Amino acid sequence: MSKKMKEIYRTYADTEVSVLATSIQCPYCGMEWQEDDMSECGRTYEITCDDEWEDGCGKTFKMHFDAS
Ligand SMILES: [Zn+2]
Repeated sequence: MSKKMKEIYRTYADTEVSVLATSIQCPYCGMEWQEDDMSECGRTYEITCDDEWEDGCGKTFKMHFDAS
């Protein structure tokens, strides 16, 4: 007895942005990139300017995120 696998269909109309990308700029070297999921109001994030990709300086800095 074979069960036919069910299928669903989706189009672009069914998509949505689930994570907010925040534009980051390193205060040391000025490199810019985007981080997902770093948009919680009133929170302070510790971010390392990654030197393993692009031309980051490897330094760590804090980012304060607020509503405005
Ligand atoms: Zn940097």
